[in-house]
Amino acid sequence: MAVQRLEDVRRDLVKANRILSHEGILDAFGHVSARHPERTDRFLLSWARAPELIEEADLMEFALDGTALDDPRPAYLERFIHGAIYAERPDVMAVCHNHTLSILPFSISKSVRLRPVIHTAAVLGGEVPVWNIADEFGDHTNLLVVNMEQGRSLARTLGSGRIALMRGHGSVVVGADLPQVVSACVNMDKNARVQLQALQLGEFIPLSAGEIDRPQVPPGAAPMPDRAWEYWSRRAG
Ligand SMILES: [Zn+2]
Repeated sequence: MAVQRLEDVRRDLVKANRILSHEGILDAFGHVSARHPERTDRFLLSWARAPELIEEADLMEFALDGTALDDPRPAYLERFIHGAIYAERPDVMAVCHNHTLSILPFSISKSVRLRPVIHTAAVLGGEVPVWNIADEFGDHTNLLVVNMEQGRSLARTLGSGRIALMRGHGSVVVGADLPQVVSACVNMDKNARVQLQALQLGEFIPLSAGEIDRPQVPPGAAPMPDRAWEYWSRRAG
């Protein structure tokens, strides 16, 4: 994939914040970031502002250890989520941390895992792993990721996947660009709602391994995230 220009990534990051707010994935909290396209040891993330209000001037640059580069503005407490994942996963160019309500039941259930049940949610890749902060950091945390050690622990649970849930807290969604991450967030939310409803009916049929692995778009067709990205951008104004 061609390297994107910094100005395009910055513009897309503002759009991604607006879209994810408009689609109900982010509210006053949660955040989305992009890796710096020219300096892969840095990432772009707003200062600690509600996503819907973010403009280009709000974007800050961070080193992968979560240190802000020459910018005194207050940073999100949980920026370590982004830095740790970019450090562990060279393929990841964008990260969203959200507290989407629909997925939270799956983050605390002892018996049911979030898994793809609708055709647009193959990106979930099978049973979505749940990171339980108490496993490594005990039962006296506030469940937030507030340092690199916790960020790296979360990144290990994510592994090579696209999504991990965080027990009693939210999720992290990654991708090769911002449209991929936005698309995965929206489809994760839809899938979670459908799966929850299906559970009330009883047994349900998840996507098979073959349906998960199958390319979503036939060769030669326009990639789905592009079409959806235009639609979401328009909806978000
Ligand atoms: Zn959080």
